[in-house]
Amino acid sequence: MPKVSSISDKSVAIIGGGPSGLMAAEVLSQAGIKVNVYDAMPSVGRKFLLAGKGGLNITHSEPFQDFLSRYGAGKSRLQPMLERFSANQLRDWAYDLGIRTFVGSSGRIFPEEMKAAPLLRAWLHRLRQQDVKFHVRHKWLGWHQADNKKLRFQTPEGIREIEADAVILALGGGSWPQLGSTGEWVEILVEKGIRISPLLASNCGFNVNWSDYFRLRFAGHPLKSIAASVDDQQLKGDCTITDYGIEGGIIYTLSSTLRDEIIQTGFATLLLDLKPDYSLDTLIDKVSKPHGKQSMSNHLRKTIGIDGVKAGLLREKLTSEDFNNPIKLCSTVKALPIQLLSARPLAEAISSAGGVAFEAIDENLMIVNLPGVFCAGEMLDWEAPTGGYLLTACFASGRASGEGVLNWLQSFIQKNH
Ligand SMILES: Cc1cc2nc3c(=O)[nH]c(=O)nc-3n(C[C@H](O)[C@H](O)[C@H](O)COP(=O)(O)OP(=O)(O)OC[C@H]3O[C@@H](n4cnc5c(N)ncnc54)[C@H](O)[C@@H]3O)c2cc1C
Repeated sequence: MPKVSSISDKSVAIIGGGPSGLMAAEVLSQAGIKVNVYDAMPSVGRKFLLAGKGGLNITHSEPFQDFLSRYGAGKSRLQPMLERFSANQLRDWAYDLGIRTFVGSSGRIFPEEMKAAPLLRAWLHRLRQQDVKFHVRHKWLGWHQADNKKLRFQTPEGIREIEADAVILALGGGSWPQLGSTGEWVEILVEKGIRISPLLASNCGFNVNWSDYFRLRFAGHPLKSIAASVDDQQLKGDCTITDYGIEGGIIYTLSSTLRDEIIQTGFATLLLDLKPDYSLDTLIDKVSKPHGKQSMSNHLRKTIGIDGVKAGLLREKLTSEDFNNPIKLCSTVKALPIQLLSARPLAEAISSAGGVAFEAIDENLMIVNLPGVFCAGEMLDWEAPTGGYLLTACFASGRASGEGVLNWLQSFIQKNH
């Protein structure tokens, strides 16, 4: 228990310098707390910078209730955090750092420069001005065995032990471990008896047993303007055939359902509609027209615009007899089943599902069984599709963890007076 006299006497250790840890550092340093950020890597924000390579989709402009619905089972616990730091507040916050944002045609929000580096640079500058101290190449190993106040770090100079009045763990999930978030914290917290849902790949590709011919001919080809469905979910958009299977926009969005179905039944069936804007009857009508000596492939291209990878998929699924039967062919154009065998490894995924269970933490994001230890960001047990939802929840929970620490420290000050 900290001996508290005033907030400004306090020091907080934030472990993990991704968007959630940095946001916690901002809240606490603004309140006058001494903040030390520790990160295993030689620099902070590496995954954030990588996200910038894809344009940095920072948040989304859709109405709040729609926005909230993207977080599935995690939405009720994330709601108060997202209400306090929503898409608009995030845009204002970026603007304060000199970064203008814009709403793209899909409703997604990006910085005008479509990069993370200028934002991160301005943000770190402001944090340093607020006296936040950064300690890189500090890999957190857990707590001292005999003294659970002491945090242990591996550093280039050897083991370092530090104490703080409160700790925020913002260690990320388990995807792209080469950028620092290795998920090694799971073992440390499990040993402390903290409930953790296993880290699983989210926003990931899936393995498909393509024929050698199809794989060699079409790996890397985009499937544009299709619809994909699983259970009662259907989405229009694009995806890409890969040598291992399938990945990309609509697959990522459906990935949690597909992954969970594979876990339960051993496989998942994805139904593709290669012509979502045409009814089956219209397609049959067009394709049934006589085509003389012209091959069915040519006829298909001329009548309904199907060729290349889409025709390849039909060939992959149909016997040549069925390929030449307009009803069977068009029925498959509208509902082409692809059996997904497994999700790609977590290390390749854009994000993780699983993490510290919400039942293990209180409304301040403090781990109930570890008073003074708080959690934020992707290491909490929620998942969301791409679209800016991941970063928004990391920023919002980072803020909430900082506010949680302030509430907790203030409760001690009040008790001591
Ligand atoms: C390719 C790619 C593109 C993405 N694009 C987008 C996008 O456009 N929009 C979007 O919303 N999201 C995107 N994301 C997801 C987003 O980047 C993450 O959700 C977000 O960075 C998670 O933030 P975080 O602070 O929780 O964790 P992280 O950013 O993972 O940071 C965790 C930090 O903790 C440190 N750490 C871990 N373990 C230890 C330890 N033991 N000791 C010390 N330090 C440790 C790590 O080094 C790291 O710096 C993308 C992700 C990827 C991989």
